Amino acid sequence: MTAGVDQSKAWFARAKASTPGGVNSPVRAFNSVGGTPRFMVRGDGPYLWDADGTRYVDLVSSWGPMILGHAHPDVVRAVQEAAVNGLSFGTPTGGEVELAEELIGRVDPVQQVRLVNSGTEATMSAVRLARGFTGRSKIIKFAGCYHGHVDALLAEAGSGLATLGLPTSPGVTGAQAADTIVLPYNDLDAVRKSFMDNPDTVAAIITEAAAGNMGAIAPDDGFNAGLRDLAHAHGALLVMDEVMTGFRVSHSGWFGIEGVEGDLYTFGKVMSGGLPAAAFGGRADIMARLAPGGPVYQAGTLSGNPVAVAAGLATLRAADESVYRALDVNSQRLGVLFGEALTAAGVAHTVQFAGNLVSVFFTENRVRDYAGAQAAETWRFPAFFHALLDAGVYPPPSAYEAWFVNAAMDDAAFDVIEKALPAAAQAAAVAVKP
Ligand SMILES: *Cc1c(COP(=O)(O)O)cnc(C)c1O
Repeated sequence: MTAGVDQSKAWFARAKASTPGGVNSPVRAFNSVGGTPRFMVRGDGPYLWDADGTRYVDLVSSWGPMILGHAHPDVVRAVQEAAVNGLSFGTPTGGEVELAEELIGRVDPVQQVRLVNSGTEATMSAVRLARGFTGRSKIIKFAGCYHGHVDALLAEAGSGLATLGLPTSPGVTGAQAADTIVLPYNDLDAVRKSFMDNPDTVAAIITEAAAGNMGAIAPDDGFNAGLRDLAHAHGALLVMDEVMTGFRVSHSGWFGIEGVEGDLYTFGKVMSGGLPAAAFGGRADIMARLAPGGPVYQAGTLSGNPVAVAAGLATLRAADESVYRALDVNSQRLGVLFGEALTAAGVAHTVQFAGNLVSVFFTENRVRDYAGAQAAETWRFPAFFHALLDAGVYPPPSAYEAWFVNAAMDDAAFDVIEKALPAAAQAAAVAVKP
């Protein structure tokens, strides 16, 4: 089915000369699955086309943002109309107000937002604000949760390193990591104990509203509510990172599914429709501490960029209940296909959902935390991945990522997936542990 990868190969060789590893975000390099990363040239609806002309059903959706599918006409038109009027002014614009109102209107606990340029910036700013508001320094995060590449939040490697908050990336100093406490996901007792061990020093708990960066792992019933109660009992804030789940898993993100109120929220991905924009927000009394009204500094040359704002507004306005229904239906349909193919091939697996995020873990056990995700037979994943890729399906190139459906997927797209899965399941079945 594939037309070869000569063009992608040539681009990749050239890219490696000018950019470390040939990519601008590490997972794109295919290091954990091997082979040649596909250089994409075009997207339309549920499909991507690479530089060699091969078409793929896209199950990454730009890591979440493209809930409507690629090149949705409303979004493209909004971007074109905005661009004609100028690309950036460095002044306030009405579009920023409208986007802020749209976010606030969708997520009840969010009374004010500030726009930034990436999810990383959003979490970095939310953590600074939480520290500035509480006058405390420590942050509790969970192993396997990703909050962007903020220095203090990169600590997560697992086992003793993670527990001690040692940096998992060279370049993160001990001082930056020392104020980070890393605990196992879905473990309220560990959080309770941590508050006892660190009295009056924890500024905030930051958590993915539902974990999606170690595969899709929904919070256990009562976990997020327990985090909120523990945080508040000890004078700390709860920061709900909805960069991945926000405006994807429902009209109101994970909040719309669960209803547990955080004090601060971070958003990205869907809210800017594929252009770089993100946001953090929450309680008005906390947000009031931000400059220029308050002393906690935060700024951005391109923050609230009019073209990015137009893409975000057009995406959210087009994302009505029928879109969210389609996302739910499509992720369930994908999960059923995974299950059927892997069962037929005799591969131990668990298909998990967090809203419409879906993941395949090569283990029989339900995965509740990072240790569980790491205990799965992830070495089966590269074979599964490449069989799908060869058959015209573009999966996330990592065993630890969620799969992202979009609302543009139709029967024809599912037909491609359904035809590809039996051979992929077979490839996973005969994969050899390295
Ligand atoms: C993607 C992601 C981020 C980081 O966003 P960037 O725009 O890549 O910086 C932060 N938190 C979560 C939960 C994410 O999924």
